[in-house]
Amino acid sequence: MNKEDLLSRLTKVRGRGESWTACCPAHEDGSPSLAIRFKPDGRILMHCFGGCPVDEVLGAIGLDINDLFDDGPVQRGDQIKPAFYASDVLRIISVETLIVAVAAIDVSNGKPLRPDDLERLKLAAERILEASRYA
Ligand SMILES: [Zn+2]
Repeated sequence: MNKEDLLSRLTKVRGRGESWTACCPAHEDGSPSLAIRFKPDGRILMHCFGGCPVDEVLGAIGLDINDLFDDGPVQRGDQIKPAFYASDVLRIISVETLIVAVAAIDVSNGKPLRPDDLERLKLAAERILEASRYA
């Protein structure tokens, strides 16, 4: 899988070298929650901090897990949870933390949160918790 080819299938792509983030194509993703790592050995690691399984992420852009490995098919059991650089995690949770902070200010000012704000807040909390597992 060619790096440019993969990145061209995604939106809000940011990063450089090995480390990239983008909007996850498998769920409604306004702020990038997909981390992509291009390993020097040719492997590509992906992780959606919104919780999408990697095969769903790939399916949404017309790929499957074998496309991520230059060395041909791999057994599903061989997939290990990738370790991501702190900068990826930070980039993803900084947006989510901002959402939580804005909501906290509103609530502390006595302003009620709308139902969709509450939903977004819940998502932000899930992403922060997910990301904190990589800290
Ligand atoms: Zn996702």
